[in-house]
Amino acid sequence: MIGMVDYHMHSILSDGKDSYEEMVRVAISKGLDEIGFSDHVCIKPVDWAISLIDIPVMTEQIMDLKLKYKNQIKIRYGIEMDYFPGSEKELKELIESLPVDYVIGSVHFIGDWNFDTDQSLYGKWPNDQVYGEYFELIQQAAVSGLFDIIGHLDIIKKFRIYPESNQNKLFEDTIRIIKKHDLVVELNTGGIDRPCADYTPGPKLLEMCYRHNVPVTLCSDAHNADQIARHFESAIELLTQIGYQEIVGFKNRTRRMIRL
Ligand SMILES: [Zn+2]
Ligand SMILES: [Zn+2]
Repeated sequence: MIGMVDYHMHSILSDGKDSYEEMVRVAISKGLDEIGFSDHVCIKPVDWAISLIDIPVMTEQIMDLKLKYKNQIKIRYGIEMDYFPGSEKELKELIESLPVDYVIGSVHFIGDWNFDTDQSLYGKWPNDQVYGEYFELIQQAAVSGLFDIIGHLDIIKKFRIYPESNQNKLFEDTIRIIKKHDLVVELNTGGIDRPCADYTPGPKLLEMCYRHNVPVTLCSDAHNADQIARHFESAIELLTQIGYQEIVGFKNRTRRMIRL
C-alpha cells in the first residue's frame, strides 16, 4: 500500500469503533501514505452521525493529529455529509465553517426514509422507481456544487436491491452530470463486506465513469481500524484493468493526481 490513500473512515465520533489516533497508528502500520477522516455529518438528527455540538472536537482532534504525525503520514480532514435537497444553504454554511480538505457528498435518505439502515420499505415501490429517485438525488447533489467527492455512487444496491429493467441511461445521465460539475467518484471497497458484496460503484458503473473521464479516489469506508484500506489490492487491480492510471488526492479542497 506504499503511496496509497484512504479517504473514507469513521471514528467513535460518528458510528466508528476506534479513535482517530488509533486509526492513524494502524494506517501507518499498513504503509499508507495518506489518510482522510470522514465522519458522518447529517443535519437531520440520527444516531450514526456526529452530534453537531461535537464538531469542534472533531476539528481540534484532527488538526492536532495532522501536526503530531506529520513526519509519518499525511492526514486530511474530510467529512461525509448527507445531501438533502432544499437544504443547500444550511449545508454550505456548515461546510464553510470547517477547515476541511474535502467533502464527500452521500445520499442515505430518500425523503425521510434512511434506506441504507432501514430495510422495511423495500418492496413497497418498484425497484426501478427507488433507483430513479435515488439517482435523481445523486444528480442534485452533484449539481449543488457543495461536494468534492460523490460517496458510494450506487449504495442503493446495498441490500441486494436491483432494478427490474435496464437503467443504463439513468446511470449514464448521472455520470455525465457528475463530470459536468467536476466531481470525483470514490471507489468504496466497504460494499464488498455488505450484503451486495460488491464495490460501490461496481465494475460496470466504474467503467462508465472511466469512459466519461470522471476521476476517482480510493476509500475503504472503515468503521474500525482493521478495515482501513480493506480490499485495496483488488480495487487497484480493477481500476488499472479498466484503464485508470491515477487517483485523486485532496488538500484544502484542491486536487492533485497520484499515480497508481
Ligand atoms: Zn455512507
Ligand atoms: Zn461512510
